[in-house]
Amino acid sequence: MSDMRHDVQNTFEELFGRRADGVWSAPGRVNLIGEHTDYNQGFVLPFAINRRTLVALGARTDRVARVASEFADEVVEIDLADLAPDNLHGWAAYPLGVAWALGQFGADLAAVPGFDIYIDSTVPVGAGLSSSAAIESAVAVALNEVWRLDLAPRTLATVGQRAENVAVGAPTGIMDQSASLLGRRDSGVFLDCRSLEAEIIPLGLEAAGLEILVIDTGVSHTHATGGYAERRASCEAGASALGVESLRDVTVDDLDRARNVLDDETFRRVRHVVTENQRVLDTARTLREHGPTAIGELLDASHRSMRDDFEISVPELDLAVETAQTNGAIGARMTGGGFGGAAIALVPSELSSRLRVAIDGAFSEHGYSLPDTFTVTAADGAFRELGL
Ligand code: ADP
Ligand code: MG
Repeated sequence: MSDMRHDVQNTFEELFGRRADGVWSAPGRVNLIGEHTDYNQGFVLPFAINRRTLVALGARTDRVARVASEFADEVVEIDLADLAPDNLHGWAAYPLGVAWALGQFGADLAAVPGFDIYIDSTVPVGAGLSSSAAIESAVAVALNEVWRLDLAPRTLATVGQRAENVAVGAPTGIMDQSASLLGRRDSGVFLDCRSLEAEIIPLGLEAAGLEILVIDTGVSHTHATGGYAERRASCEAGASALGVESLRDVTVDDLDRARNVLDDETFRRVRHVVTENQRVLDTARTLREHGPTAIGELLDASHRSMRDDFEISVPELDLAVETAQTNGAIGARMTGGGFGGAAIALVPSELSSRLRVAIDGAFSEHGYSLPDTFTVTAADGAFRELGL
């Protein structure tokens, strides 16, 4: 990482002909538990990971904003006066959308200076590790400091979400940005998606001799296609049939009544969300009281619920999870929105390489392309790496 900070600074200098004011970074995230609970105003428990997006930023003396990225072959330029969701397109809608959204949260876009930005990243794009939140959060902390806005990290999370919802047009919740901004080393971010209260929960993985493996199946998922929207609609239909504002207001004890009111499919969708909320609460409590070795069954139960009740798993994810479970993992589950993407496995460090071999073996036996499997650690949220 230390080399990359200077690389980013040097590339900024080559591109823009002067030194950046500073370099800021923000991490991607993995969701430990709490899937499809965020838009039901429930609970999630993600953590920031040791893969980061770096942003070198220099203020300008005029009102022009320019953004460049290692991942793009164009420098996108816009006058701050033209910053509006309709004028932002493609990848540049993420960083420039954040600049626009800061205007919605108190920045005086008629008075702040323009800026140049260069971006590089070790967060894989589109692998379900939220490179989108990483780029948003890194730009948000950079502009927050250079524009002297003094906005709290929690507000910056909402800024990133606003940018993604409105400027990019992706209807995502607040989880990813919260993890990327509030994360702490070796800790999870327990988030109440109704109150937006966040609590840092120590994971204690290293001390317990455990690792989290990400098994990226490479099966692509797009939130735009039917499944995600259908699940959201089922949750809304379930809440409305049960006479509550959101499924957050339904508890495990209410499920018997719900079974009589709802059709079988809607009932199973509701049961996933309600039991998943309880599992997030149980995971947070278990981590505090007994440490990470004790959360395996909660991860396993979460996977079963997504596979059987919410029906968002795919055979590759089930195979990754089952292979992990039978080869030494303490617990495993698919993570993310479903229909593809990655699974995570909580595994004793000394068994992790054996597990990788077993997973590759199982995938090739089934004729699936080999997954990308790697360890993640829980890292600090966004901060300034260099300068000013
Ligand atoms: P995920 O968040 O799971 O990685 P998304 O589809 O939500 O996937 O976001 C990926 C998009 O975010 C990319 O297609 C690109 O437009 C933008 N993006 C992410 N990281 C970068 C980066 N380092 N440089 C430029 N654009 C990026
Ligand atoms: Mg994303």
